[in-house]
Amino acid sequence: MTVDLVIAGGKLVTPENILDADVAVADGEIAAIGDERTFPDAERAVDASGLLVMPGVVDPHVHIDGYLSKDSYESGTSAAALGGVTSCINFAWEAWVGDLSVWEEEGTLLEAVERQKRKGEDSLIDFGLHGVITREDPAVFQELDDVIEEGVASIKMFTAYEIGLSNGFMNRVFEHVADRDLVAVLHTEDASVCNHLTAQLKAEGKTHPRYYPQARPDYAEAMAAENAVRMAQEAGAKYYGIHTTSRKAANVIEFYQGDGSEVRGETCTHYTVLDESAYEQQGSLPIIAPPLRTPDDRDAMFEQLHGGALSVVSTDHVAFARADKEVENWWDSSFGANGLQASLPVFFDAAVNRRGFSYPFVVRAMCANPARTFGLPGKGTLEPGTDADLVLFDPEETYTIDAAENASVADYSIYEGREVTGRVKRTYLRGELIADEGEVVGEPGNGNFVHRERPDWNDDRADRR
Ligand SMILES: [Zn+2]
Repeated sequence: MTVDLVIAGGKLVTPENILDADVAVADGEIAAIGDERTFPDAERAVDASGLLVMPGVVDPHVHIDGYLSKDSYESGTSAAALGGVTSCINFAWEAWVGDLSVWEEEGTLLEAVERQKRKGEDSLIDFGLHGVITREDPAVFQELDDVIEEGVASIKMFTAYEIGLSNGFMNRVFEHVADRDLVAVLHTEDASVCNHLTAQLKAEGKTHPRYYPQARPDYAEAMAAENAVRMAQEAGAKYYGIHTTSRKAANVIEFYQGDGSEVRGETCTHYTVLDESAYEQQGSLPIIAPPLRTPDDRDAMFEQLHGGALSVVSTDHVAFARADKEVENWWDSSFGANGLQASLPVFFDAAVNRRGFSYPFVVRAMCANPARTFGLPGKGTLEPGTDADLVLFDPEETYTIDAAENASVADYSIYEGREVTGRVKRTYLRGELIADEGEVVGEPGNGNFVHRERPDWNDDRADRR
């Protein structure tokens, strides 16, 4: 008997521990961890001396190939592979008609799922989908069973923009989400507060991006979160607050978790390392919604990740060109920033080197927790029998983030010039090397659509932190 691959001599980082151990891979899965001398002979052996061996990053919040993001699956997931990301969850948008739409006519949620699955045939990494409800049409409820059948286990809703749902409709969605044991994924900002403040800034001629955070304040984020979480709790629905940016919004999640409700929260790498001063330094490049906040909010993200109210760090990757961002008035800028390639090193450096968190803390926030939260039992761990999605990571190598190295079509980085210690050396997807020392070696189509099961959130309550 032989195995396909042995990675020996590294430090294994699991969600719980750091082990001096070797990994054997067979048929795309982790066959064993332990002492290589006890393993069968290997077709290939890799020396990981001096490196960390971590599960591949699971990024549950990315925008690839639509609805506005300019990355194709090939370019977006090439960036992911270089960044140690081996699975992601992208969005399938129910087509709508409106000023912000890219569609000529309305479409169903099921069509959206099928469309994204087709596009994803060029993916270099494994991917799943969230279904996005963009319209207040109850017909969508009839589709939910079929959507589940297609492997989609979560439903995204917005409270803002023209696709924002009213509290009344959202309340109905939560009932359906609860009945079917799906996960509700929420973008929360109070639309009327943000719209009025935006209009005021426009009227005052406050065009510079430094004013942008005033248009979408932390309390508007917390207000909408409060409404949505309360409705989810009444319905008994699983609630996942995406891209939490502020102490106030994180406190809402913490409060409702305290009563035993099924409430979880995510923040993004950029909210843990950047603050609103970035708008002075970088202009409109970091225009994202919600905005970057204050240094205190940045600290709050780590406090709440440590405490467990927040449990996941994602990228909210959206690819635009610099030209889409650099416009005269901040409100004309495209919203979103790319981050898949730099996210792991940037968050690792911030958490471990600058704030003293452990390696397993990083693995929990970026690998294990997103996998468990979203029904990906074969991902985010080094347990034998799970997919051999692995990152070889050098915790000692220092380098400077440079957008010239981007695989994404986005030709800038909000981390440009940032010096980080910790670098992705190799990325494996189900035992196959897909990125090697900064070179993409995987092929489009290597990645599979992952049919997700509806997750059980009770089995990991104790060890989420
Ligand atoms: Zn997003």
